[in-house]
Amino acid sequence: MTFIETLTHHLYKTYPETISELCIVFPNRRAGLFFKNALASLSERPLWAPEIYSIEDFITKLSETEILDPMGQLFELYEIILKIEKEKSPTFDDFLKWGQTLLADFNDIDSYLVRPEDLFGNLKSIKELENWSLGSDQLTAFQQEYLHFWKSLGKYYLAFREKLSIKKQAYHGLAYRLAIEKIEEKINRHRWHKIIFAGFNALNTAEELIFKRLVALDKAEVFWDADTYYVDNKIQEAGRFLRKYKVSGQFTYNNEKHFNWVVDKLGNEEKFITITGVNKNIGQAKLAGQLIQQMLERNPSLDLKKTAIVLGDENLLFPVLHSLPETPGGINVTMGYPLKNTPIAGFSELLFQLHENKMRMGREEFYYQDIFKLCSHPYTKLLTEADRLVRYIRENNITFCHLETIEKYLTDTSLFSDFQKTANIYSNLHKITEALSQALQIQWEKRLDKNKQASNIELEYLFAYSKIIRRIHTLSSNYNSIEGLKTFRTLLNQLIRATNLAFYGEPISGLQVMGMLETRTLDFENIILLSANEGVLPSGKKQNSFIPHDVRKVFNLPSYAEKDSIFAFHFYHLLQRAKNIDIVYNTEPGNLGGVEKSRFLSQLIYEFPQINKKSSITEQILEADTGRINEKYPILIPKTTRMMETIRQKGESGYSPSLLNIYRNCSLKFYFQLICKLREKEEVDETIKADTLGNVIHKTLEAFFKPFEGKTIHTSDLIEMKKQAGNQLNFNFEKYHPAADLSSGKNLLTVRVAQKFLNNFFDRQQLEVIQSVKEKKQFHIEQIEHELVSEITVKNQTIQIKGTIDRIDRVGSSLRIIDYKTGKTEEKELKVTETEELLHEQTLNKSFQLLLYAWLYTRNKPFTFPILSGIIGFRQHKSGLSTVKINGSDAITKEVLNDFEQVLAQVLEEIFNPEIPFTQTTDKKVCVYCDYKTICNR
Ligand code: SF4
Repeated sequence: MTFIETLTHHLYKTYPETISELCIVFPNRRAGLFFKNALASLSERPLWAPEIYSIEDFITKLSETEILDPMGQLFELYEIILKIEKEKSPTFDDFLKWGQTLLADFNDIDSYLVRPEDLFGNLKSIKELENWSLGSDQLTAFQQEYLHFWKSLGKYYLAFREKLSIKKQAYHGLAYRLAIEKIEEKINRHRWHKIIFAGFNALNTAEELIFKRLVALDKAEVFWDADTYYVDNKIQEAGRFLRKYKVSGQFTYNNEKHFNWVVDKLGNEEKFITITGVNKNIGQAKLAGQLIQQMLERNPSLDLKKTAIVLGDENLLFPVLHSLPETPGGINVTMGYPLKNTPIAGFSELLFQLHENKMRMGREEFYYQDIFKLCSHPYTKLLTEADRLVRYIRENNITFCHLETIEKYLTDTSLFSDFQKTANIYSNLHKITEALSQALQIQWEKRLDKNKQASNIELEYLFAYSKIIRRIHTLSSNYNSIEGLKTFRTLLNQLIRATNLAFYGEPISGLQVMGMLETRTLDFENIILLSANEGVLPSGKKQNSFIPHDVRKVFNLPSYAEKDSIFAFHFYHLLQRAKNIDIVYNTEPGNLGGVEKSRFLSQLIYEFPQINKKSSITEQILEADTGRINEKYPILIPKTTRMMETIRQKGESGYSPSLLNIYRNCSLKFYFQLICKLREKEEVDETIKADTLGNVIHKTLEAFFKPFEGKTIHTSDLIEMKKQAGNQLNFNFEKYHPAADLSSGKNLLTVRVAQKFLNNFFDRQQLEVIQSVKEKKQFHIEQIEHELVSEITVKNQTIQIKGTIDRIDRVGSSLRIIDYKTGKTEEKELKVTETEELLHEQTLNKSFQLLLYAWLYTRNKPFTFPILSGIIGFRQHKSGLSTVKINGSDAITKEVLNDFEQVLAQVLEEIFNPEIPFTQTTDKKVCVYCDYKTICNR
């Protein structure tokens, strides 16, 4: 029997006539639902259910006040500080940084019934001592301010309490303090036959006092849900509080009754425990899905209401929901889920960042990186044509984008509307959330895999977000503190961080997904506990408080040591009545909770076999599925008909030397590029990149030499070009890189480098012209940026080959095909010994390109051999034209081109052969700069 069932039976038997007049108080609301259900199935006759409360609701009722929500508390407290400090008050922004911590401390002070004058007096003295020095030095202004803050805390507290009590309002801690005053009188105002407190563990001082007093008056009974394993073992931290209560004897009336109930299930009942380490959160979520699947396969009629997936870390909620199979009875999520972990919180943050950065930079336009971040969010894509805007910005290299431009690309521009004034922020956010809610609903209706649970949850957090916005709006009309984007954003973020969405599924049926806290008082036969890592279970030494640890101890306020014991209780309580237990932890280093499994697991592995001989514990680590490619099994992609069609179509539009080189180097890379069209994401470049530099130099030279096509060039022409080079370069940089600031930094250096390249180039060209004059040869420009196309037939297939040659000139009788390169070219790259080397050798990419140009040229123009084909490298300005050499000769003859054509045909034959799959290159040097190396694990 579960604890709730045991309790129901006991109360039904003990109070057969008066059960409806009981008041039952549980640690949470959820237990009440289980209780009602158990009572309904027990009773054969209809009966009035007793009054059931969670402890918070019960205390609020007794306090006879209204609980002010956290946001209202913040504003009230700030008003108090304004009144006390007047012109010395902190700004609202500054206050928001510590206001919540102070409120949490007030909460503790009251619920633990600490005398505020003692505590704040102590704090003041401690801080004075910390700042005291032997010398006679005056305190600095900062020290004085610091001390003033500590001295004022007590004043803030008292004034805050007074203000709330006038309005008959309270925060939870204060409600406890108020509830305890004249408690007997208050209880007597209700017609409760008895109050039943059930399933508690760690009580705060006020609860302890209320329970004891009511028990002593025979007005209440307390039922614990404990196990001898941790209650009788004096050093087991899980039983830390219950041992104390048991020993005190004050929770049982006149000590007549037993300390109900301490069961012996952990040491006596059969349990099958499996502890599994798995990589990453997603690995844990998948494992949970697989375990449920296996349960259903073993027993298709399994009643999943006895099964719970317990999430140590709430972040796992969505991965788990998406990993679960279809389950009979559905999935019921009952847990608090932090709003800060939801997509709406991320979306809101990006939106505010966009507007705040715009304001901070004092510009009218939006920064492209902020636009990209916002546009990459799925919600932005739902609202408007985000990709279209991003594409435009990328293609035009825009760094700052004006609203007018945005309006041309987006039909809905509310994300970019004014966010400066509070009223505008509110109305814009209101519009955005409305539109989002509609868009989400339309999307779900369209979706085939309708995941109702996930959709409802998505709508819930959108609703919670808009509730916060509305609340800020209401408060902003009552208080003047909220003005402007920055304050609005800080307040909104604080509230998002402080908001936990309470998901309550239909708790009685179906698979239960819940957080650790929600397991209190509940029992399940099958448990899957996730994130059993140190730092999660227990959560560690995190405490946000103005009250130092030692002072907390003196005043009996809770610290992390107590928190650890509470976690330990939840952990062992979860195992108490369960039979099949899977505990999963994350093995990924650096993640939340790190690589270490929870110390509770180590304790379990060590102690449990000694106390329970009927149970088994199995430990295992699951191999991580990293999705990486195994070296032993390289990627191999057979060519499908569709792929062959793409290859054929490219044959019609023309294969370029660079695409052929990609294939020669690695057929898989060719597949990624041509078939999958996978391209590296083009980013807006604020600094000039190498390819832009190359492009600008090419365009500058084209502008200079194009007018000389078909003409002889003289040194005077080159001198003039050199003079104009600077202007022409700047013109082209501005044209092809409008976003770049050329006047400083790296960009200025790049412009200088380009000028140097061109100066050296023109000097060298002059020397060549002078030499040609000496040799009585004419220096004739034939063609500039000349596009050539030719075809080749391979296995009855006609394939177009195309290429653009930077410059073709003639010095005397030598025809020279020239390619400009701003990168470095090594000698070995232009040395071909055997033409077969050109089939795949990647160091010969440039040679292949130069020979292909020569081949294209000879098939398009009347010519006479020999031809030279080479590179003018701007980094090696002294060497002039570096020509490709076949067997040591740079003269490209008819034989050379015939051999080359065979190589070309062979490369194309491979490409067009459906039997040859795409596969990874064996030459790993190719992979070093490949964009796809993460896919290939190279
Ligand atoms: S990483 Fe290497 S094997 Fe993979 S596509 Fe690139 S070049 Fe080919």
